[in-house]
Amino acid sequence: MNTLAVEGELRPVNPATLEPVGVVAVTDDVAPVVAAAASAQSEWAGSSFDDRRALLERVSRVLVARKAEIAATVTAETGKPIVESYTTELMLGVEQVAWLAKHVERVLAPERIRYGIRYLAHKRARILYEPLGVVALIAPWNFPFSIPLSQTASAVAAGNGVVLKPSELTPLSGQWIARVFEDAGAPTGLVGVVQGGPDTGASLVRSPGIAKVVFTGSVENGRRIAAEAADLLRPVILELGGKDPMLVLRDADLDRAVEGAAWGSFANCGQVCVGIERIYVARDVHARFVDALVERTRSLRIGNGGSPDIDLGPLITERQRDRVEDLVAQALERGAEALTGARRPNVGLPGWFYEPTVLAGGDPESRLEREEVFGPVVSVLPFDDEDEAVRLANGSRFALGASVWSRDVKRARRLASCIDAGMVWTNDLGISYGAGSAPWGARKESGTGVTHSKHGLYAMSNVKLVDSDRGRIKVPWWYPYDSGALDGFEGVLELLHGEDALRGAWPHRRGLMHLVGRYLRR
Ligand code: NAD
Repeated sequence: MNTLAVEGELRPVNPATLEPVGVVAVTDDVAPVVAAAASAQSEWAGSSFDDRRALLERVSRVLVARKAEIAATVTAETGKPIVESYTTELMLGVEQVAWLAKHVERVLAPERIRYGIRYLAHKRARILYEPLGVVALIAPWNFPFSIPLSQTASAVAAGNGVVLKPSELTPLSGQWIARVFEDAGAPTGLVGVVQGGPDTGASLVRSPGIAKVVFTGSVENGRRIAAEAADLLRPVILELGGKDPMLVLRDADLDRAVEGAAWGSFANCGQVCVGIERIYVARDVHARFVDALVERTRSLRIGNGGSPDIDLGPLITERQRDRVEDLVAQALERGAEALTGARRPNVGLPGWFYEPTVLAGGDPESRLEREEVFGPVVSVLPFDDEDEAVRLANGSRFALGASVWSRDVKRARRLASCIDAGMVWTNDLGISYGAGSAPWGARKESGTGVTHSKHGLYAMSNVKLVDSDRGRIKVPWWYPYDSGALDGFEGVLELLHGEDALRGAWPHRRGLMHLVGRYLRR
């Protein structure tokens, strides 16, 4: 743990320096925070789209005004390079808020629909997207600001209240979410935060008054939360682990692919749900690619994330470094070769650093190849043809993101359609996280449900149909039932959907006339 265990308090520690970052009280009882969010939400549910847009625009401005403080908190708690606190936390987060401000009305405004059925042509109907109530967000430590920020903004844009439980490893980063909404003038209590570990999270999931749970974290805990929520019949969105494959085709721009591989594997010290953990390279270019990736990896600078001139910080906890070391040791025992890394660097700091590691020739059955490593380790394998590349990519129980690298965009798109994943990027990776129009979701054990985009807004809403009928036209399939009506309905089916409409309906003309009579009778 990198929080010092003190009764009733969380004391996050900088994983690079092991210095304390602050003290946060554990929330004894989540109920008052949920109640405050519910009370604020009951008014917020009636807010206009203008109100919601204005709040989100103010959130963006507060975020920009306080960017240096937020970035410093995130880097102190996670050890990630300060540049990444700007790019993957602030920039991705604010883009989501800005998109929501601009598009929430278009997506969630009442939608007129037509049934498209001839005998219901007189009807009018609307789909309403109504708020759910209070949404519980349970967040991880790896992106402790951008993930809960985008989820909170989406929930609030849809008229909901939020209670967020940040990771116990990054409570101060999570606290910023409530602070920016508060500073932006959100109704008091609308965005609440509860602090603590799994027990606090479990209380929140179970808390009466929670309409939906959005959990971002490990598969193991996602399973627990899904089971708990199933018992309560409470809907959940699960954003879980990944083991993203990168497919480098023979015609790829190798320089770009190597740069992408280094960043995709080692950004945030490899602790990224869509981090690249498996690289499959066309055999013709495999050796060149591997040599260049090893050289690039050796040039990465490791150190204290507070410095703008480092590329990699430490792992989040000692336990996580131990786990990465175990997985690598087992992979080496089972025949993998460490082309670089596979050891602790000497950076003159006491934190939980690990050298970025490129492995080759691994046993596909080793734990490292099968589990999410969540550290700066990537394995590289050659493939002979596209079918094999797709088979390798899909040969995992995870299916979050994937990337295809090729100069032929059509070919990349074709392969993308064969890959099991929630997102497939071409000659890039992860970038759509900040794009409000782009959905974020997964398949297989990487999760269920979607956040971001119009689909994320729908997921934060109750969908309601309101049918409008002036009540002037009779409904012929109400009582009484009789043989004339039955004959008529046979005729209707033939007339509207039969192969030879008129001829098929003809034998049922008496029944059809019977129905017409019902329409006309007052
Ligand atoms: P974790 O599962 O350990 O914890 C996540 C959160 O859940 C924390 O706030 C924790 O306190 C809480 N929690 C744990 N057990 C709980 C329980 N039984 N009931 C309620 N709450 C509980 O995950 P982590 O280590 O913080 O995050 C890393 C994992 O998250 C990785 O697997 C990563 O791939 C995944 N992740 C996924 C996405 C995505 O978009 N799919 C994004 C980021 C991280």
